[in-house]
Amino acid sequence: MIKMEHCRNPTNGTCKSEDIKLYIQVRGQNLPICQQCWNKIAEEEW
Ligand SMILES: [Zn+2]
Repeated sequence: MIKMEHCRNPTNGTCKSEDIKLYIQVRGQNLPICQQCWNKIAEEEW
């Protein structure tokens, strides 16, 4: 089941995109990440 959520990229607190690509687990929470942020995350080491 997919909820409409906006991006909660922990490295970009201002992003409000609803184009959620996937969820990442950070400190026990599932954070929705949008396509755009995921591209950035995938390029960088973090
Ligand atoms: Zn985003």
